[in-house]
Amino acid sequence: MSDYNFLMESKLSPRQFRVVNLLAQAASAEGLNFYLVGGAVRDLTYGQPIIRDLDFAVEGHPEKILRHLQTPRPAVRRRGEPGPVPSHEDEVWLEEARYDARWVSAEIYFSSGVRAEVSQCRREDYSQPGKPPEIVPATIFEDLRRRDFALNAMAVSLHPNSRGLLLDPTNGGGDIERKEIRALHSRSFIDDPSRIFRLVRLAQRLGFKPEEKTENWLRSALAQQLQNRLTPEQQGRELEAILREENPARTLKLLADRGWLTALDRNLARVRYERLQKIHALAQKFPEDDLFLLNFDALVAGLSTGQRVRLAKKIIRFPGMLKLALHLEREAKKLSKHLLSSRAASPSQVWKLLSPQPRILLLYLLAYASQSGVQNRIKHYLFKVPQIQARLPRLELQALGVNPGPKMEEILGRLFFDQLDGKIKTSQQLSKAMRSLAGIREPTPLPPTRPRAKPKKSAPATPANPSDQHETDQADARPTSRASQKPGRPPGTRPHAATPRRKKSPSAR
Ligand code: ATP
Ligand code: MG
Repeated sequence: MSDYNFLMESKLSPRQFRVVNLLAQAASAEGLNFYLVGGAVRDLTYGQPIIRDLDFAVEGHPEKILRHLQTPRPAVRRRGEPGPVPSHEDEVWLEEARYDARWVSAEIYFSSGVRAEVSQCRREDYSQPGKPPEIVPATIFEDLRRRDFALNAMAVSLHPNSRGLLLDPTNGGGDIERKEIRALHSRSFIDDPSRIFRLVRLAQRLGFKPEEKTENWLRSALAQQLQNRLTPEQQGRELEAILREENPARTLKLLADRGWLTALDRNLARVRYERLQKIHALAQKFPEDDLFLLNFDALVAGLSTGQRVRLAKKIIRFPGMLKLALHLEREAKKLSKHLLSSRAASPSQVWKLLSPQPRILLLYLLAYASQSGVQNRIKHYLFKVPQIQARLPRLELQALGVNPGPKMEEILGRLFFDQLDGKIKTSQQLSKAMRSLAGIREPTPLPPTRPRAKPKKSAPATPANPSDQHETDQADARPTSRASQKPGRPPGTRPHAATPRRKKSPSAR
């Protein structure tokens, strides 16, 4: 049986793993049973290389977790709040959050694009076909049974006492081994016809087949034309999910071939597939980025402004994202102009200009900007700057006695900008600048060692000049490492008194 603690730590991206821990801590602090569910558990089990989003279920109220996260804490900041240079990988920013009272569910966007949905464990009672169900709070086991397919109905406990325990009451694990998608009961597609689209999309993505009975239920649903009975909200959610696929053009084409695409929106008869392909190519270079907004932009490129706005409102639920999606082109033009102006003459100026921008705008420019000046600056920002940030000497500063806090951030900021602008090029220069900014004197260099004179055959056992003997002894006894230096050495051969001992740390080793 798989070890899900190991799988979470090794297969989720570090950013996702931090979000899992942050939410699990919040739930634990609120005394709630908390589970990772849905696609993430399926993909961890199947060994998918990329996990798109994180779905959680809580036995209790998700609003409590949201409130806990929104209380200012060092680990959770909002964009724009004062803080260190954005190089601290351990930080998680709460970007945007939205609570849906109808579905008792909170959708949360963290900085760096990690998405999470926290839903209350619930039962869904469908009274009429195709109509939204009545929601009843329930246990995790009941919650798993109301889900679409067995392979999506697994949960991993995140409670500190049972962390890593897999709950798989409908044997989704067996289906994953057989590469099958199995609906959990015969009314599944009738209750919620959006599951027709979910099945087609998932089957295409994973290369799985519907299980035999599920196939029959699906045929029967299609014979009743249930694929045309999605509510506008379900249509919007399904389109959103398609645009989050790694290759949305492929899914859209499949649906268009079956004649189902216009069931999701009447304006989708004219899709600009070439634009979607361009974004697909970009996705290969940025596999961890969510290119949803770029895909949306590509999808609506051929439509009138009115049609775009209508589709945007249907598909995008967050107001900030909606605004950005509709104005990507305008914002990109503005930013290009600034990037080619004197405001962006040095790399640090470019950084200051680009760092507050939404990352998706930079990726938009990378996909579409024609000026090489814009392309180069964006590429430098996206590829080189993270390398400099990753090498900022946090641990080394700590080892020198500078504690995390405003002073450390100020020093790191200076080191960061000086490296960006080429004032610090080598690791020696970096180390020197770091010590000087930390107010630590350079260690006095060791005095040059005198080469030992070859003993002459006729040389006496005792040298004529005793001081020569002293020097020779010193050279012989000079330690190879600082640790073996003894007190009583001449000045310069001991570590400088002002230099604190370097603590052992991974990067300092
Ligand atoms: P992805 O990798 O695309 O995120 P996913 O299976 O996680 O795939 P989500 O849309 O994120 O898909 O939904 C999360 C989980 O919620 C699903 O795995 C499934 O358990 C449940 N779910 C979503 N939509 C439905 C639905 N229409 N009916 C029943 N369960 C659903
Ligand atoms: Mg998901």
